[in-house]
Amino acid sequence: MSNLPHISNWIDGTHAIPSTERLEVIDPATETVLATVDATSRETVDSIIRQSQKTFRNGPWSHADPSDRFAVLSKAAVLLRSRIPEFVELETQQTGRPIREMRAQLARIPEWLEYFASLARVHQGQVTPFKGPVVNTLTRLPVGVVAQITPWNHPLLIATKKIAAALAAGNVVIVKPSEMAPLSVLRLGSLFQEAGLPDGTLQIVCGYGRDTGKFLCENPTLAKIDLTGGLATYKAIASNAAVNMIPITAELGGKAPVCLLPSLDVELAVKAALFASFIASGQTCVTGSRLLVHVDLYDRFVALLQRRVNALRVGDPTDVRTQIGAVISQGSVDRCAAFVERAVKEGGRVLCGGQPTHVNGKGFFFQPTVIETHPGSDLSCNEVFGPVIALIKCDSEEQIISVANDSQFALGASVWSNDFAQAHRVADKIEAGIVWINGHHLNDPSSPWGGFKESGMGKENGLEAFESYTKVKSTIINYGIQPTWFDDEIENARYG
Ligand code: NAD
Repeated sequence: MSNLPHISNWIDGTHAIPSTERLEVIDPATETVLATVDATSRETVDSIIRQSQKTFRNGPWSHADPSDRFAVLSKAAVLLRSRIPEFVELETQQTGRPIREMRAQLARIPEWLEYFASLARVHQGQVTPFKGPVVNTLTRLPVGVVAQITPWNHPLLIATKKIAAALAAGNVVIVKPSEMAPLSVLRLGSLFQEAGLPDGTLQIVCGYGRDTGKFLCENPTLAKIDLTGGLATYKAIASNAAVNMIPITAELGGKAPVCLLPSLDVELAVKAALFASFIASGQTCVTGSRLLVHVDLYDRFVALLQRRVNALRVGDPTDVRTQIGAVISQGSVDRCAAFVERAVKEGGRVLCGGQPTHVNGKGFFFQPTVIETHPGSDLSCNEVFGPVIALIKCDSEEQIISVANDSQFALGASVWSNDFAQAHRVADKIEAGIVWINGHHLNDPSSPWGGFKESGMGKENGLEAFESYTKVKSTIINYGIQPTWFDDEIENARYG
């Protein structure tokens, strides 16, 4: 027997009996196995969903007073805030992301619980201007048992965003974290229990996407699927969900343009690019993966960018000085290398990096890479999800806009300029679900998050996310219209 910890699914308020099939969770910076988790079978998934349906129908959460939901989610926020250091350590280990990033990111995650707790408490129904002596109330009800399929790049942030919105609205949640980084999400089970969430209301189920994720999404009794992942995963689940009339929120990939306009100070432009492009080793859906630089700024920008990128400290993610950590897997290293090779074949010029690397002889690392290329190249059009960035010289403001929009993705984009009018003009014309002016990656629980085109549909965050976890019930209260239709004298009888 191995001494590796095995963390089994969190079901009905406890860690379930471990499955026979298991999968290993690897620290990508050291290639050591951190733990094993369940590879959950179809039979178990179906039985968890059946049990969750009973909990939704008969359990207290779906009928709880909003003030009770507020209290539980607020307490969960307090507990999470008090445990951030332990979550930071775990998140750093399972993702290979630098500890300084994880400290900054995780410190804000309790805000999602606070925000959705507050929404649960203050959200109001409506009364419509219904004609006549009638009161029509609209109330929002939880939708039912919802499945949440989450990725490995921000494991705790993305799961918490989704869980908070769904629980605030009174649903029963089954979350399947990514097989690459499920450990921090698994810890949320006992945390919510301590906060007072009734057992069975948050179920955490692990396994491979192609198996466990698929089994979950194929179940016809789900009320909603909320996916953050790749387009291929969306396509794999969409047809079944459509036939089963299950709505999907899909947060998919991106190819965010970083539009750098000529009025910018070059130092600021380079800092903007570094921040947009290399946070999380380029593994975020809004990575600034296309630097669109105005010709008037270009030469100065490139010279300084090269110096700064070459000086970035790739290293052990647990070292506070490390700026660039690992990528998630050997597959990701290979994918980055393949992008570099194709970019060079297409005439691209590698300005920085371009190679896989190791730290202390181990790990899945890739040098921060910038490649000068042209619009329409493979690197300009397709998502790398790693630190390989396309640099494109643009002749004009118009060209920046047209290159920015010439993409099947439309999730995030940033526009950087000291010229107020130009910044607004360009931002106005960019097709993207999220446009930042003089910023990138900025995010808040109140701010709807989601893309257009193949970047997805629906929103995380904000009122939009909360309402997407509800269904509207219309109650029509008549206090003056008589049901006289089949009387002899039906003058002025009202039908509808
Ligand atoms: P992925 O699509 O491979 O996996 C995401 C989740 O889907 C995992 O839990 C996985 O197990 C599951 N899954 C895979 N196949 C499945 C199937 N057939 N049925 C059901 N579930 C399945 O994505 P990833 O590699 O974890 O994450 C990277 C992708 O996520 C990138 O494209 C990135 O842009 C996107 N992403 C988007 C956002 C956003 O907010 N739009 C945020 C983060 C990541």
